[in-house]
Amino acid sequence: MNYLSTRGQTPALGFSDAVATGLAPDGGLFLPEQLPDYAGELARFERLDYAGLCFEFLRGFATDIPPKVLRSLVARSYTKFDHPAIAPLKPLAKNLYVLELFHGPTLAFKDFALQLLGNLYAHQCEVRHETINVLGATSGDTGAAAIHGLIGRPGTAIFILYPDGRVSPLQERQMACTGADNVFALAVDGTFDDAQAALKEIFADQKFRMRHRLSAVNSINLARVLAQCVYYLYAWMRLPTAERSNVEFVVPTGNFGNVLAGWMLQKMGVPIRGFRVATNQNDILYRLFSTGEYRMGEVHPSLAPSMDIQVASNFERFIYFAVGRDPAKVRHVMDTFKRTGRYKFEKFNRDSFTASCTTDAEIRGIIQRVHRDYGYVVDPHTACGFKDIGVGGDPDRVQIVLSTASPAKFPDTIKEAIGTEPTHPALEALKSKRIVKHLLKASPAAIRAFIDTHAVG
Ligand SMILES: *Cc1c(COP(=O)(O)O)cnc(C)c1O
Repeated sequence: MNYLSTRGQTPALGFSDAVATGLAPDGGLFLPEQLPDYAGELARFERLDYAGLCFEFLRGFATDIPPKVLRSLVARSYTKFDHPAIAPLKPLAKNLYVLELFHGPTLAFKDFALQLLGNLYAHQCEVRHETINVLGATSGDTGAAAIHGLIGRPGTAIFILYPDGRVSPLQERQMACTGADNVFALAVDGTFDDAQAALKEIFADQKFRMRHRLSAVNSINLARVLAQCVYYLYAWMRLPTAERSNVEFVVPTGNFGNVLAGWMLQKMGVPIRGFRVATNQNDILYRLFSTGEYRMGEVHPSLAPSMDIQVASNFERFIYFAVGRDPAKVRHVMDTFKRTGRYKFEKFNRDSFTASCTTDAEIRGIIQRVHRDYGYVVDPHTACGFKDIGVGGDPDRVQIVLSTASPAKFPDTIKEAIGTEPTHPALEALKSKRIVKHLLKASPAAIRAFIDTHAVG
């Protein structure tokens, strides 16, 4: 299988190279040349466990990795989950389910993709006799999940920048208490934007980038989207047969990576009724799906911080399909958007998407209501998915709300909402561990000097 850039000005690459490259050199995002049709395979997939299903799903995409190797990489990626089902589907009412995606090592859904990505990177280092240095900036979940995908992997080192004193104490501990000598938690003196700006400058330095074989952690990697398709399929197969084609997935959304994965699965022949894009008060996608205009916003920090975005970086993949897979049209949309901060689609086809937006003022009330109605505690991101869902669910359709993080990661907001503080043994254990972080100025020179001293290879 070949992978093409949405902007059409990068030669086609195989799976492993597209994964290693991340962002295409023409600024576009990689997509498979064609989507496989899995409609005829669903009966065969039905009996598989999570890792088995993930392997069968991915083998049609990762065609340059021998099946035996791929099977073992996938199996290894789901051993650190603390629930036997990996992604348990729990009924809350008639027609209403929650899909728990927070049983991985950092208790958020990003583990599904980043555990696998870590194994793919490590495998590539091994077969190509290369080393890789991964660099990223985070305001929370992504950094922790990326670190836990690479802990102790030979041939790799990972450097994560975060604003000192501005991530939650638990998030900092998830990054800085691993005890692994290939993990570097870099607390920079400044804001997230300062860290991000320094990172951009470092990646623009081609010589430095080549010298250390630097790779970026971000949400646009093709492997992340593909890994995320699998839990939609897994959940779909756990539903009673009569409910399956009437299901709507409700997805707490920031960069559009998660919900895009579900939508792509639908395009592979899995009958799914639709998707609700549930944003927080950073509502660029809500506005798009209601008005047909994609218009850049300012970031308003919220109680669901992992969805605080200005633009939705994975949205370009949907645009590619929406304009009939025409890279020239994608370039036109993205250029216009970059120049003017907005793009108005003439005839916007929202396909099977609907959207909702939830303000901070509503989040605590929703957490309270879900707790009262179903005896179930949701985190602030998942709460955005429960907006507009009444007691007993929707009579007309089956809904699965994706739960993207464990409530235990956000004890303060939960306590304000329902009066008790959720805990999790993995987070409790972190509290007694030693923090090892490196304090740095938010300057490219200081960060480069640190990497020069600590990089592998
Ligand atoms: C990253 C994240 C999201 C947003 O996912 P996208 O793929 O960016 O849409 C939602 N909830 C949590 C807890 C996250 O960590």
